Amino acid sequence: MPKYADIAIALPIDKLFQYQIPEELLSRLAIGSRVFVSFGSKKVVGYVVGFSETAGREGIKPIETVIDAEPILSSEMLSLTKWISDNYFCSWGEAIEAAIPGGIKKGKKSLGSRIKESHINVEDYSRTEPHVLMEEQAKALRMIADCIDKKEHRTFLLHGITASGKTEVYLQAIDYVLKKGGQAIMLVPEIALTPQTIERFVSRFGNRVAVIHSHLTPAKRFLEWKKIKDGRADIVVGARSAIFSPVKNLGLIIVDEEHETTYKQEDVPRYHARDVAEERARLNSCPLVLGSATPSLESYYKAKEGRYKLIKLTKRIEERLLPKVKIVDMRMELATRKKITIFSKVLLDAIDNALKNKKQAIIFLNRRGFSTFVNCRKCGLVLKCKRCDAVMVYHFEEKKLICHYCNSTQNPPDICPKCRSGYIRYFGLGTERVESELSHAFSHIHIARMDSDTTVKKGSHDRILGEFKSGDASMLVGTQMIAKGLDFPEVTLVGVVSADVTLNLPDFRASERTFNLLTQVAGRAGRGEDGGEVIVQTYAPHHYAILAAAKHDYDRFYEEEIASRKELLLPPFVSLIKVVVRARNEEFTQKTAAALANAIRAEDKDVMIGGPAAAPISRVRGHYRYNIMLKGDDKKRMCDLLKRVLAKFHKPHSVFIAVDVDPISM
Ligand code: ADP
Ligand code: ZN
Ligand code: ZN
Repeated sequence: MPKYADIAIALPIDKLFQYQIPEELLSRLAIGSRVFVSFGSKKVVGYVVGFSETAGREGIKPIETVIDAEPILSSEMLSLTKWISDNYFCSWGEAIEAAIPGGIKKGKKSLGSRIKESHINVEDYSRTEPHVLMEEQAKALRMIADCIDKKEHRTFLLHGITASGKTEVYLQAIDYVLKKGGQAIMLVPEIALTPQTIERFVSRFGNRVAVIHSHLTPAKRFLEWKKIKDGRADIVVGARSAIFSPVKNLGLIIVDEEHETTYKQEDVPRYHARDVAEERARLNSCPLVLGSATPSLESYYKAKEGRYKLIKLTKRIEERLLPKVKIVDMRMELATRKKITIFSKVLLDAIDNALKNKKQAIIFLNRRGFSTFVNCRKCGLVLKCKRCDAVMVYHFEEKKLICHYCNSTQNPPDICPKCRSGYIRYFGLGTERVESELSHAFSHIHIARMDSDTTVKKGSHDRILGEFKSGDASMLVGTQMIAKGLDFPEVTLVGVVSADVTLNLPDFRASERTFNLLTQVAGRAGRGEDGGEVIVQTYAPHHYAILAAAKHDYDRFYEEEIASRKELLLPPFVSLIKVVVRARNEEFTQKTAAALANAIRAEDKDVMIGGPAAAPISRVRGHYRYNIMLKGDDKKRMCDLLKRVLAKFHKPHSVFIAVDVDPISM
């Protein structure tokens, strides 16, 4: 009879807490149970992760209550969350709370709550039958099925160009697992969870599908979770957190668009869903399929090293050609037309042409707002946010300046706040301005715009895409929200207003992001019978990311990029751990960061440390930020080192320290 329970609590303290088990609770308590315990002066939720016969110290408090009739966490979930806490610098309790739905974290909702209907109505979808696979698809399916049969873990990287039929391979692989009595999890990036995607799964598998995304209310989310937990769903389609779905007999995990940065969680625990998926597949001895037209450098490198099995889909379905990509050198445009223009003549003519042929166009710019900076021509002042080191962006519709980092707003000034002159000018552009200019140039047509400003209201996402699908709108202007997954056969033209927006980001992944985005948006053109054309405007027409994207040549991009990563000793050749030190006082922040960097150096002379250096956006919401970057090939060793240092480090109360393992942004 165990007398004590080891309990994980969701606090940023990297240890377990012992509580005594009252006799009357013993029969209801198991590993994985949720309990209430008193912690300090508070009552908190804890998770039982182990039992012990002896007490580690005196005066151990008893467990107060057991919350659920049956354990909420399976042994698999416990292993998985333990792995997260070991690898992503968080406590076991914090990892556990990332793995269960919000509603039940506070201990409120009991698992026995009433079952209501799912948010998906199967009657809304007509059934579809599987396609007869093309040769490459069939080969891919055979390899995955073979792995399912053997019940072994293996990671496949499915590298298939846009519209090569990857999703059809996923669907049939899932079908295969289901027929063998297993279940599947399919992760997609949040923005790809469109009605189109959901439709493809529900119309194939009916009510056996559970869908989990962040727009669901906590209650609906809980219902989907419950549907999975009770075994009423065999397929989970969802964004990042769906990797924690409580499926019992997991036979396959798929991560579509595996290169997407949204798989990385930005708050504690800062896990990467792709890596969690790999660990979960390993725990279940089942295959993991990573799919992408533009695999992350990390994954492709592993495939080349033989750690992942590479499968290629090189042909588009029905042999449809990839669209022709034309690069427009905006420097020449400036030289010949003697003015700075948003649209080159080439792009304007192409739009005109598409419209004349009654076709549709997608115009892409990865920046929202109207003008991206406001400055005084007399004294040169650039209007910045009062709380962030970031320029204020003018939003025409709201007639406001908005900070994209903290959302604070200001009224646009008529006179310069510094020199009192009236020479205030607006420069730079965002999607709002692009839409406005286009509606002047093509006044007879309706233009839809999709970015995070136009999709705040519930349902607006579907409404905007609906307008475009029905043909009411002939043009769709948008940010990266429109880069993926959309399948509109009438689109013959895609225009990229400026490829330089992502290329100039202060991040070593800027080229990779640019290549990915250009490839994805280009994939929106020519999905129908009429073929397609892509026009990319840039001031850097000879950059390898742009040239390779224009040729649809992933391998060419990879070779250039991997060589530069190797030379600069960046991922995938090393692992990075970013430590962010922030506080309201700049000097204080800087000094603490310097002291911390010294403490790390003193602890281990061999570890490579960059910084401390001011973060690219050096102040956000009134907090100054300094980064320390640890570099090395032994991630575990770096984590352990940091844990030792931080345990000893005397940090002033007003300073915050965050640790991000494998950071996705600088
Ligand atoms: P991807 O996921 O690589 O972009 P999809 O799986 O969406 O590609 O396939 C593109 C289009 O081709 C879809 O409309 C899909 O239904 C269709 N398709 C896929 N595989 C086949 C096939 N074997 N035969 C006919 N059509 C197919
Ligand atoms: Zn001025
Ligand atoms: Zn701000």
